[in-house]
Amino acid sequence: MAETLHIVGGGMAGAEAAWQAAQAGVYVVIHEMRPQTGTFAHRTGHLAEMVCSNSFRSDDDEQNAVGLLHWEMRQAGGLIMEMADANRLPAGGALAVDRDGFAQAVTARLVSHPRISVEVSEITDLPEDGRWIFATGPLTSGALAEAIRTATGTDALAFFDAIAPIVYADSVDMTKAWFQSRYDKGETEEERTAYLNCPMDRAQYEAFIDALLAAEKTAFHEGETAGYFDGCLPIEVMAERGRETLRHGPMKPVGLTDPHAPEVKPHAIVQLRRDNALGTLYNIVGFQTKMKYGAQADVFRMIPGLEEARFARLGGIHRNTFLNAPTLLDAQLRLKSRPHIRFAGQITGVEGYVESAAMGLLAGRLAAAEIAGCALPEVPAVTAIGALLTHITGGAEAKTFQPMNVNFGLFPPVEGLKGGRRGRRDRYKAYTDRAKAAWTAWLSAARLDAA
Ligand SMILES: Cc1cc2nc3c(=O)[nH]c(=O)nc-3n(C[C@H](O)[C@H](O)[C@H](O)COP(=O)(O)OP(=O)(O)OC[C@H]3O[C@@H](n4cnc5c(N)ncnc54)[C@H](O)[C@@H]3O)c2cc1C
Repeated sequence: MAETLHIVGGGMAGAEAAWQAAQAGVYVVIHEMRPQTGTFAHRTGHLAEMVCSNSFRSDDDEQNAVGLLHWEMRQAGGLIMEMADANRLPAGGALAVDRDGFAQAVTARLVSHPRISVEVSEITDLPEDGRWIFATGPLTSGALAEAIRTATGTDALAFFDAIAPIVYADSVDMTKAWFQSRYDKGETEEERTAYLNCPMDRAQYEAFIDALLAAEKTAFHEGETAGYFDGCLPIEVMAERGRETLRHGPMKPVGLTDPHAPEVKPHAIVQLRRDNALGTLYNIVGFQTKMKYGAQADVFRMIPGLEEARFARLGGIHRNTFLNAPTLLDAQLRLKSRPHIRFAGQITGVEGYVESAAMGLLAGRLAAAEIAGCALPEVPAVTAIGALLTHITGGAEAKTFQPMNVNFGLFPPVEGLKGGRRGRRDRYKAYTDRAKAAWTAWLSAARLDAA
């Protein structure tokens, strides 16, 4: 194959994309700016450097969505998984790795591949022609971020995650919560009932504020906060400004009537907004936070109706460059306005090492197929990789789009199974069985001539 694939960024996604494309016979150039130009989080010049924790999270491919993602990537001959397995450290059910050994091994494999070359250079523009994958990650360099912003529009590229926690809808106690939009606004019944509401009386509100103020928080990294705070204050910072601030902000108890106790006016109300087209996930509106993960679960379960809540993801705020993928990318991760450019990794709005590498795996295969002149079949939405892809390129609400970890809430439900906590083991096993069959079939249908 004569056409060269250019990949910008040799992190989790870029490394995997390069490997997949090269294994399919394509010549690849990786443009990586490190070590010449650094970021505040990377420390080395290695490809696929882990910037923080050394864990790829759960390796359970029957009961855990990220474990399933591991499985799917291993089946696809993924380099990131192979090198993670080769550098595994004891960590119970989690896949933890020796970070230096891992990054060195990925780098060595890539630079010694006969069809891959690595150029140390910072790319600062979106090219007009050629075949490209941009996988520059959450810490995309400033000049390139500006170029992307100019090409896509100011609202289409974010520089911070202000993530509100996301709850599985089936774990909300509906004997306490109810569906209603404020002032019943909306043209359709669906719009008038778009929110889930959880009421608090005075004592519950005061206890909640105390817990927020006392909870352990994480600190920002050096250089991370520049220009951020306007408009997305963490809830605990709002609470610090005054005990009533939240009651006049995201928790205001107006325009809503509790059908379980219509005579009682709640002192405060927490609202959850639908987060995906399937209606399986809800985010807690305005609850972006810097509380530590352990503290978050405890504090949020104080909210009436969320005592048994399961979280698809917890809240956070950190530096993160990402596209509004639902509006900008097509189902093949191509920029709709410039289809010769694909995006992959965290910049597409997934979150996490594994999810980023998975989007790299897909982008590499899709680009290789395009260069080979063949079209791959659609990635099944019932697989972990397909569920993520479907979410970022269409399933998620574009207006409130925030980066997403893989989780079972992104999967189309398996019909006929028991809901709630009791049926969970069977449900998750059904999801993973279905995904494995679909992914195996896709891989064999999407086979390219590996050289
Ligand atoms: C501070 C921080 C901590 C994180 N901690 C975790 C964690 O513990 N666990 C987890 O699962 N996820 C974590 N993440 C989220 C995310 O999973 C990782 O950032 C992951 O590495 C993303 O993969 P990626 O390939 O998209 O980006 P990266 O792995 O960051 O790779 C992008 C690459 O592009 C290069 N680059 C950037 N701009 C240019 C340019 N203009 N030209 C050329 N090269 C460029 C960068 O040097 C980098 O090598 C963290 C993110 C951040 C910012």
